[in-house]
Amino acid sequence: MKKAYLDNASTTPLHPEVILEMTKILTEDYGNPSSTHSLGRNAKSILELSRKSIAKQINASASEIIFTSCGTEANNWIMHSAVKDLKVVRIITSKIEHHAVLYTAIALQNQYGIQVDYVNIKSNGEVDLTHLVELLSEEKKTLVSLMHVNNEIGTIMDLDRVSQICREHHALFHSDTVQSIGKIKIDVQQTPVDFILASAHKFHGPKGVGFAFVRKNAGLQPLFFGGEQEKGQRAGTEAIHQIAGMAKALELSCQNIETESQYIASLKDYTIEKLKTHFPGFKINGEKTLYTLLNIVLPFDESKIAMLLFHLDMKGIAVSRGSACQSGSIRPSHVLAEMLSADDLKKPSIRISFSHFNTKEDIDLLIEGLREIRG
Ligand code: PLP
Repeated sequence: MKKAYLDNASTTPLHPEVILEMTKILTEDYGNPSSTHSLGRNAKSILELSRKSIAKQINASASEIIFTSCGTEANNWIMHSAVKDLKVVRIITSKIEHHAVLYTAIALQNQYGIQVDYVNIKSNGEVDLTHLVELLSEEKKTLVSLMHVNNEIGTIMDLDRVSQICREHHALFHSDTVQSIGKIKIDVQQTPVDFILASAHKFHGPKGVGFAFVRKNAGLQPLFFGGEQEKGQRAGTEAIHQIAGMAKALELSCQNIETESQYIASLKDYTIEKLKTHFPGFKINGEKTLYTLLNIVLPFDESKIAMLLFHLDMKGIAVSRGSACQSGSIRPSHVLAEMLSADDLKKPSIRISFSHFNTKEDIDLLIEGLREIRG
């Protein structure tokens, strides 16, 4: 059966070169980077070369890159330490953040009694920057946590502009860049953001590894205690094969960013054209979205929602939900709930997310599948 993997915002297939790199390390370079013998020193060298390579891609210095187990850990670490150690008393975030940020903000509110303010989201998915400035006019030690690219609808926030606004208001700025690293060029020398982060499995690297960029002298303290790894910032033996795999994946993504982004954008255009032809009345959720993401409302009967993804899956097509179906009741995604009208929320939304491994054939398969379901 032909298959079409169109769920790349969830996770991406490993790049073959990443598999080669990781297999070599798993086979030959199994030393512990904290050991002083040659196998250990070799592992340490791989670790530090990976750190340098990753730092170069975002124009950071190597000491500003801290390896973590995933994006969720990096978000939790930054936000927890900002409150506990940097004495932040207010977090400004939005209701369309990933749960790794949203739930962390709520946990910190419950644990430390900090204030959590939510910046308004416009109906096109954009962050209301006028409202952000308004919120920031209240002077308090603040952390702004706003994502660069939304993982459900793909809207792109102006990272430079928000960084500047935060600087002007003396607020710390943390941006979840999990969906944008390797897909949009980020230069931390140009963009005065305090904390960003990544998760390797979103750019054809392995699962279970990520990194945080923490600007020099930011003063974060560790979430875990134990060994002296990562200069005491993140204890635990480093997963060298994962880290080197992530460095390779990011290097490849950044090297090929121009050609891959053009190719993927052309696939997205092709999808939109096909949708216009076969499903007039479909709508795109969000404006100014990243080339890898397309979230749509389908002009289908409500009765089609529950089984939509199941039917597509039976045909070998992997996309993601816009509405969650739980125990038989339809619960809209927290992101779409913030921006869609009550009517559109009832209709089926799906998220199609692309990578450079996709082809027009994949799109044709999806369109064919959707046509069959509509009947
Ligand atoms: N933040 C965003 C925007 C994401 O899309 C994801 C993953 O879906 C995460 C954080 C969590 O990353 P991880 O799976 O590495 O914990």
